[in-house]
Amino acid sequence: MNFIQTRGCDETKPKSVTFSQAILSPIASFGGLYVPEILPELGEAFLTKHLNSSYKELASDMLSRFEIDIDEKVIEEALNLYDNFDDSKNPVPVVKVKENLFVSELYHGPTRAFKDMALQPFGVVLSSIAQKNNENYLILAATSGDTGPAALETFKNRANVRVACLYPDGGTSDVQRLQMVTEDATNLKVIGINGVFDDAQNALKRLLASPEFNKALKEKNVLLSAANSVNFGRIIFQIIYHIHSYLELVRQNAITMGEKVYLNVPSGNFGNALGGYYAWKMGLSVEKIIISSNENNVLTKLIKTGKYDLRDSKVVSTTSPAMDILKSSNVERILYDLFGSDRTKALMDDLESKNVYELTSDELATLRECFDADFCTGDEGKKYIKDTFQNDGYLMDPHTATCFKAFETCSNPAIKTIVYSTAEWTKFSPVIANALTGEVDAEDSVALESISKTAQLEIPAMIKGLFSKKIVQDTIIEKENIEKEILKFL
Ligand SMILES: *Cc1c(COP(=O)(O)O)cnc(C)c1O
Repeated sequence: MNFIQTRGCDETKPKSVTFSQAILSPIASFGGLYVPEILPELGEAFLTKHLNSSYKELASDMLSRFEIDIDEKVIEEALNLYDNFDDSKNPVPVVKVKENLFVSELYHGPTRAFKDMALQPFGVVLSSIAQKNNENYLILAATSGDTGPAALETFKNRANVRVACLYPDGGTSDVQRLQMVTEDATNLKVIGINGVFDDAQNALKRLLASPEFNKALKEKNVLLSAANSVNFGRIIFQIIYHIHSYLELVRQNAITMGEKVYLNVPSGNFGNALGGYYAWKMGLSVEKIIISSNENNVLTKLIKTGKYDLRDSKVVSTTSPAMDILKSSNVERILYDLFGSDRTKALMDDLESKNVYELTSDELATLRECFDADFCTGDEGKKYIKDTFQNDGYLMDPHTATCFKAFETCSNPAIKTIVYSTAEWTKFSPVIANALTGEVDAEDSVALESISKTAQLEIPAMIKGLFSKKIVQDTIIEKENIEKEILKFL
């Protein structure tokens, strides 16, 4: 299977590339993205065949339909990492919370957030390509909290890959920071920056595009790559769990095969939602994909009005920080799929030059056949956390909680909904403690204990252990010194 480009081809790049190439240099012509030339058709026979399969068997068969240029052995090794999730037989439990609402829990991996679903296997795949090509890669990552720990965890001690991870000092939760600064491996470098997430992100973009930096790396025999959420090597692993979650509902006799469901996704960069969209196109029975956001609600406005407007928008800090995003990169792949490359290029050009694009009313109607959306404020989210815990005995994090608003406002109550839960309560404990007991500004360590007591839940060992682990990554610098620091590390 080959990969083609969302904004067409500018002749400096080949018209189509392999999966490996799309992973190693994810940016296509005109700043676009790579997409599969055709999506494999799975159909109901595939679903029926896998009704009693394990997660890995389902994943392995689905990936084989993509006919990617990765050895079967490597794929097997990559998928084996799901064995390290809480329940090796079922890495993604799907739980009934209330009538017609089921939660698919994507956070049972080593860093307790959904980034593990894709980054765990991705680390094996990327490292294997680097070894096969006899190349050394530096992966640059900028994180507001969840991607950093997951990227460090997956690349730790992997051959031919090093990681430099930038985070805003003071801009992550204690748990997220500790997950990074206690990572002890010679191929990992964690760098705290005096600044906010945007400073880290901008530094990363500048370095990726800098000829001098790339040249300095070349002299050290190192190539530059990124593991951000537009990488198709991550997206491909995010199709599987949507199919798995559907089959879980069939297994639980909650739906019959072929019955349509809503997929309700807490969205930031749109990777999770895109995985659901591809699963739908490949044959899953879906009524609509519901895009849930926080106060940074550009996606709600796009899907309600057809306008993607960043002219007066500023990112605001919310209680669901992993969704504090204005430029939601993977939306471009939906535009391509619905409207083709010429139109996608025109729309993305508008966004870059005018900070706004607008769909025609026909285009908006097409988009709305697939998607609906709503956003949920921090206070509303806390109320959903509290009420759902009190009435249904289910504890969720503030990202997941945004879906409960759209469940009420966007769904036909006769149709069942799968809500995707993207983080364990342990990762955002101060907000949850505040929602449950009203306590304010607790440190993570205090909030974890109080939730544990209130909800009678045990704090997982890997979270509890963080507070006594040795801090080995203690670099905190000004943003001007990032380049120097990374070269020193290499
Ligand atoms: C990354 C993340 C999201 C957003 O997912 P996208 O695929 O970028 O839309 C939502 N919640 C949590 C907890 C995350 O870490």
